[in-house]
Amino acid sequence: MADLVDLRSDTVTRPPAGMRAAMAAAEVGDDVYGEDPTVNALEERVAALFGHEAALFAPTGSMANQIAIQLVVPPGEELLCDADAHVVTYELGAAAAIGGVSTRTWPAVGADIDPDAVAALVRPDGYPGVPTRAIAVEQTHNRGGGGVVPLSTVESLRAVADEAGLALHCDGARIWHAHVADGVPLATYGALFDTLSVCLSKGLGAPVGSLVVSSAERIARARTIRKRMGGGMRQAGVLAAAGLYALDHHIARLADDHRRAARLAEALAPFGVVAGPVRTNIVPLDLRKAPIDAHALAAAARDRGVLVSVLGPRTARLVTHYDVDDAGIDHAAAVLPTVFRG
Ligand SMILES: *Cc1c(COP(=O)(O)O)cnc(C)c1O
Repeated sequence: MADLVDLRSDTVTRPPAGMRAAMAAAEVGDDVYGEDPTVNALEERVAALFGHEAALFAPTGSMANQIAIQLVVPPGEELLCDADAHVVTYELGAAAAIGGVSTRTWPAVGADIDPDAVAALVRPDGYPGVPTRAIAVEQTHNRGGGGVVPLSTVESLRAVADEAGLALHCDGARIWHAHVADGVPLATYGALFDTLSVCLSKGLGAPVGSLVVSSAERIARARTIRKRMGGGMRQAGVLAAAGLYALDHHIARLADDHRRAARLAEALAPFGVVAGPVRTNIVPLDLRKAPIDAHALAAAARDRGVLVSVLGPRTARLVTHYDVDDAGIDHAAAVLPTVFRG
């Protein structure tokens, strides 16, 4: 893989030497006993970043989301989210299969959410309807091309949730990118959500890990749910140390990933395949009018040393991340146009 420019996902990063050194030096204990000082430090740090009382380290973003959903939606009751949301698209039906949670979606609009349309979906308490208990918002929106939900939209959704007595959850796998792109403090986002899940293993470049962020009461319950789901880890400080290192060193640099994604979008703009404005580290490609489909694009790009991700027959994406530098972007920006030129 060393010679390939891997733009499939920001999950493909490998921990750099400094991060590995921090992992090797981590003080550890049994985290199921609450005795891992590095996990405790990470949880306290992330809770404070978002202005919440507590946080819980989880092995994956999917588990962090599903723990949060179980915290705010009882079995048989309802979560509202975007039709393309990760929580209903890429988590293998976990909300239903594990949480017993009913989900209803608004049409896939990425970051471009209409709070009135969401409000219109809310069903009140009382037989025989399924009562709505929570709304989930993805920040940034993955299938929405890394779009950033504007702060004013999040504020309006908060008002919708307050009006109806609902919880507001943020799938913040890439909330760091929204923070860097729009300059909104993490604590400002934190204040608007009842629960958040945030990911260390995407743009931040840690090998593993996400956190659920919420009140002390909810996080105490989250600890039980995590153990029930098989997510209670022991000397997890080795992993938490990677997360602490990432928070220290890898947030501000996301601006480089955004700049590089914009460069790729610019290189592909003449071919009319870039689907929407590129705000963060994802370049979504719409190939409906292109001479080749997504599989042909991926094969041709691979032949030229670039890996792209196939999302559908005529949709693909490029994702910039820690392991792709300017030289890699130069290469991709030079060869991808040749694929479209034929
Ligand atoms: C990657 C991602 C997650 C978490 O995925 P895991 O692979 O389970 O860590 C959650 N939400 C979004 C939007 C993501 O992109």
